[in-house]
Amino acid sequence: ERDPVTVIGLGLMGEALAGAFLGAGHPTTVWNRTAAKADRLRAQGALVADSVADAVAASPLVVVCVSDYTAVHGLLDPLGPVLYDRVLVNLTSGTSQSARETAGWVAERGGTYLDGAILAVPQAIGTAEAVILFSGPRPAFDRHEPALRSLGPGMTHLGDDHGLSSLYDVAVLSLMWNILNGFLHGTALLGAAGVPATAFAPVAKTLIETVAGWVTGYAGQIDDGAYPALDSTIDTHLAAMEHLIDESVAARVDVELPRFIEALAARAVAAGRGGDGYAALIEQFRKPAEA
Ligand code: NDP
Repeated sequence: ERDPVTVIGLGLMGEALAGAFLGAGHPTTVWNRTAAKADRLRAQGALVADSVADAVAASPLVVVCVSDYTAVHGLLDPLGPVLYDRVLVNLTSGTSQSARETAGWVAERGGTYLDGAILAVPQAIGTAEAVILFSGPRPAFDRHEPALRSLGPGMTHLGDDHGLSSLYDVAVLSLMWNILNGFLHGTALLGAAGVPATAFAPVAKTLIETVAGWVTGYAGQIDDGAYPALDSTIDTHLAAMEHLIDESVAARVDVELPRFIEALAARAVAAGRGGDGYAALIEQFRKPAEA
């Protein structure tokens, strides 16, 4: 007999989460504000609770996935002591501060809190592509890992600090947006010369994979605080950045992204890092730019 699980919030993501628990054989209790969203899950064998309190009472592991933390607290604040002895896993997206505050709030009620960030679309839940990052007390994660692995093999515990999953979430999104913005800017630049995006795509993909191979080495330099230019100096990068700006101006495409890239490198050169490798730019990201 598998452990019972409760899922509160049956939007696009919550329904996928509950479906994965059911599919893995866990007795699954669900609740949603709009009751009709539980119908499909009921047909798959879910128990539909009449109230949030009943849903929390039904399982030692309570997963909540609603729009935002205001909704989480709107649901849980009025409940009284039902969280006692429960592990609340909050997969709602939010900031690290709201995760830490919610951890304190759950602890005051005698419960245990794990925060989580879902790096996947609902369709990926339950498959090898689903990555969910968890933070909070390790023993609670270990206790419930078998159930959580119903959501996919990529269930990762980051550390005890409840804020970590939200921080990783935004860090990964920043990476994604920066990669995509670079691709889109390059596509616009080439498009001005009549090159279709599909022609650029394979070159872009190769470059992204090449750069992916640099990350581990640069990470080591950053943690060591020394950035030897093993491949190319920031001075050399800066010269190429000028070309990017010139070409963007000539092609009449947006030049804000190239100017930002150049400004960052120029700050590093001004700080005496021109002879170092690209990872030395970490020092510019670590502090706000001077106004
Ligand atoms: P949906 O808009 O599909 O669902 C929102 C859910 O929140 C519904 O169950 C809704 O209930 C509930 N809800 C909202 N406000 C309240 C409230 N005040 N009281 C009670 N319930 C409330 O969103 P998703 O399921 O897509 O997203 C849920 C969370 O998962 C978000 O934090 C999102 O960032 C995160 N996430 C989603 C991903 C995705 O690809 N969809 C990917 C990664 C993270 P009702 O049905 O009654 O409106």
